[in-house]
Amino acid sequence: MTYCDIAVIGAGPAGLAAAAAAREAGAGNIIIIERDKEPGGILNQCIHNGFGLHRFGEELSGPEYAGRYIDMIGGEGIELRLGTMALDISPEPEPGEGGIRRKTVYVVSEARGFEQISASAVVLAMGCRERNRGPIFVPGDRGSGVFSAGSAQRYLNIEGYLVGKRVVILGSGDIGLIMARRMTLEGATVLAVAEIMPYTNGLSRNVAQCLDDFGIPLYLSHTVTNVIGSGRIEGVVISQVDEKMQPIPGTEKHFDCDTLLLSVGLVPENELTRAAGITIDPRTNGAKVNEDMQTSLEGVFACGNVLHVHDLVDYVSAESERAGRAAAEYLLKGAAAKGEERIIENGANVGYTVPQRFDPERISKSLEIFFRVRKKIRAGEITVYSEGEKIAGFKREFLAPAEMQKISIPKVLLDRAKGDLTVSAEEIAEVN
Ligand SMILES: Cc1cc2nc3c(=O)[nH]c(=O)nc-3n(C[C@H](O)[C@H](O)[C@H](O)COP(=O)(O)OP(=O)(O)OC[C@H]3O[C@@H](n4cnc5c(N)ncnc54)[C@H](O)[C@@H]3O)c2cc1C
Repeated sequence: MTYCDIAVIGAGPAGLAAAAAAREAGAGNIIIIERDKEPGGILNQCIHNGFGLHRFGEELSGPEYAGRYIDMIGGEGIELRLGTMALDISPEPEPGEGGIRRKTVYVVSEARGFEQISASAVVLAMGCRERNRGPIFVPGDRGSGVFSAGSAQRYLNIEGYLVGKRVVILGSGDIGLIMARRMTLEGATVLAVAEIMPYTNGLSRNVAQCLDDFGIPLYLSHTVTNVIGSGRIEGVVISQVDEKMQPIPGTEKHFDCDTLLLSVGLVPENELTRAAGITIDPRTNGAKVNEDMQTSLEGVFACGNVLHVHDLVDYVSAESERAGRAAAEYLLKGAAAKGEERIIENGANVGYTVPQRFDPERISKSLEIFFRVRKKIRAGEITVYSEGEKIAGFKREFLAPAEMQKISIPKVLLDRAKGDLTVSAEEIAEVN
């Protein structure tokens, strides 16, 4: 058995930021467990720029952004274990010192074989994986040439292979948009991006910079209705869909292509979380957490894409630093006295919130809430109600489901809340 203070699972930007913040907050003996052969997570394959505008005030590439955090975890107190896969987490039956309940993380690596790591606190930072063809029922032949956009990105940017020459992309999430530009720059022709929703699922800046600038057509309210070719694929048919997302007969468009890229969503990697019995929020597919990113299992924290899918890595870093500091506090001071927790509920047009609960006694300056809206809203107001009384309102010129929203409720306003909170996003006539 190896003993440590904090075990961080995942060395993507979330795990790296959590470990660095935990050490700065006074923790030592931190082990970061990473299954890949290098740290940095998904950022290593994101060689485009656009990272770090909020965090560093600079436009960095993914590897450059990751590099800043890799530098931060250097030195004493943090051990990075690469090529090591976390298999399971279970709370140790015997409580540790100071009332802390130690947890055991079971890991396996080529170098050391099977190992048990006992930790006072655990930070979950396992990121996401891409949704593939199965769950979205793409019809047609099962030929080769159908890739998830992130796999194509890895082939191109890390392994050096261009996966096709004539490409159709299904889904307008950021990965699909970025791959439309990347494949074009490498000499492929991107014939179309089809999106089943009536709006794009990526950041507006990515639509402008990756599609509009390269003249790549975007078909909103369209989906793939046939894939043709049993060896390598030879064509893809897309059709318009009605308001119930059903294809409209007679609207088919055929594209001769050798490749179909799927950019149809990310799924937080929570197998470990579920197996540990931690409560999952079906709205985020991540753990339910409090204001400190603590899950339902005491001393286990979660952050980054494993908690909810982020569009900007800068928010991943900020959230993960909070989780790292809270893990250090748990280690140094033990479990916080439990106050009366309040729930944060979805109101009109809000799909989810993170955190899902908070303890007002533990908020010193402000409560930050991340959420996504369900539909595009021009000139909107984000409102926060408690027991029918409005305690805060935030005007926004534009809200879109693709862009994660953040509000910060100052303590002075939070103190007015008499009970649970409801966050809504409402359309207003005009913005002052
Ligand atoms: C294609 C693409 C383009 C993007 N473009 C931008 C952009 O332009 N600007 C921007 O700000 N953001 C962008 N993002 C978002 C940003 O990169 C992510 O939000 C961020 O990488 C999430 O960090 P993470 O640490 O939570 O997850 P990840 O980066 O996925 O890291 C998770 C790590 O955990 C490891 N892991 C998982 N399970 C285990 C296990 N059981 N044992 C050990 N290790 C494990 C994985 O190997 C991985 O290294 C983009 C994302 C993608 C996918």
